[in-house]
Amino acid sequence: MVDVLIAGGGVAGSALAILLGRRGLTVELFERARFPREKPCGEGLMPAGVAVLQRLGLAEAVGGAPFHGVRYHFGDHTAEGRFPEVAGVPVAGRAQRRKHLDHVLFQAAATTPGVSAQTGALVEAPLLENRRVAGLIVNGEPRRARLVVGADGVHSRIRHQLGLDVPARRKRLGVRAHFRLAPGQTQPPWVDVFVGRGYELYVAPLPKRELLVAALAEPETWGDSAERAFHRWWNAEPRLALRLEGAEQVSSLMGSSPLAGGAQIGVAPGVVLLGDAAGFLDPITGGGMTQALMSAELLAQYIVGRLGTQERWLREFDRKRQQMLRDYQILTQMVLWVADHPRLAKGLLSALKNSPSIFSHLVGVSGGVRHLFALAR
Ligand SMILES: Cc1cc2nc3c(=O)[nH]c(=O)nc-3n(C[C@H](O)[C@H](O)[C@H](O)COP(=O)(O)OP(=O)(O)OC[C@H]3O[C@@H](n4cnc5c(N)ncnc54)[C@H](O)[C@@H]3O)c2cc1C
Repeated sequence: MVDVLIAGGGVAGSALAILLGRRGLTVELFERARFPREKPCGEGLMPAGVAVLQRLGLAEAVGGAPFHGVRYHFGDHTAEGRFPEVAGVPVAGRAQRRKHLDHVLFQAAATTPGVSAQTGALVEAPLLENRRVAGLIVNGEPRRARLVVGADGVHSRIRHQLGLDVPARRKRLGVRAHFRLAPGQTQPPWVDVFVGRGYELYVAPLPKRELLVAALAEPETWGDSAERAFHRWWNAEPRLALRLEGAEQVSSLMGSSPLAGGAQIGVAPGVVLLGDAAGFLDPITGGGMTQALMSAELLAQYIVGRLGTQERWLREFDRKRQQMLRDYQILTQMVLWVADHPRLAKGLLSALKNSPSIFSHLVGVSGGVRHLFALAR
């Protein structure tokens, strides 16, 4: 029998398949899309995510444009949060198009011995036997394995069909588009966040002089056309409008809503949820891919050696995963709260501007290289 079936070949599913295949396990990875495919995202990978790619030996193949941290702009105020050093060494994030990043990861999974990876493979439902998940129904066919992993994203079908959904409290909508800069325009190595009234704009520097612009906002803020709101918002930010002067839009506007999805618990008999499928709050702190990659590494460690034993380890893994992501979740809740209170945001940004080490620490938490209530990891 196959060791592990994975639903979803995004960052979480593909990374897990690579790690398990390399440890000698047999894996079937099912992805409904065909690569290269687009995925709406802010496309900034935090330093801890870059470190996972390095451990996988895929950082070079993924490539990307480095960024030193995050700059928040609120009206005339700008506060710059640089990633803190790790063991005295400067670290950076990387911004790369998902179309490329996800393709590289999936290809690496598909060429890993022991892994069979299929695209155009729709996972329809978990296969239940004796009140345990024994496999998956894929394109109408039952497949069985010793363990099933649901890495099928924020709107996880596996989570939903197992009755583990927690309705999202927020219904924010996110859209993104790519631009190629006009000759002479500079590409600062920062992720820039422009905080507007009821929305945020995220700007990430990409390779080949491309720039990603993403917008996040509550549904009522968008008005009757997301496209018009998107253009109006970036035109209202003089520094961004200047950077985009003469730029060519090279991808069409792509969106996703709602951005959040929760799980009551990340495991059930025979199955583990991974990445966004296990719960995703909001992209506001930009660490979703990093959290997915870190969780994939943790799950691989648990699976190797424990597969086929009693399944108490599933809950232990879920607790460890939640522990690992707790600081990031708290930070995300805090930032969402601040975004809901724009008057406070202005004051807070001024305070952070005057306390670069605190700001750097918080950016380090979002980057996965610092604990919220402690110093360097
Ligand atoms: C607007 C926006 C901006 C964001 N910005 C950032 C950012 O800057 N940095 C960051 O790190 N994160 C960001 N995120 C979050 C990030 O995109 C996710 O956290 C990350 O993609 C999670 O990876 P995953 O593998 O869990 O899920 P996904 O990447 O969503 O992969 C899930 C895969 O499962 C497949 N799938 C789904 N259902 C099925 C099915 N039934 N059968 C087969 N296959 C299926 C999908 O096609 C997909 O390929 C952003 C998200 C949004 C929406």
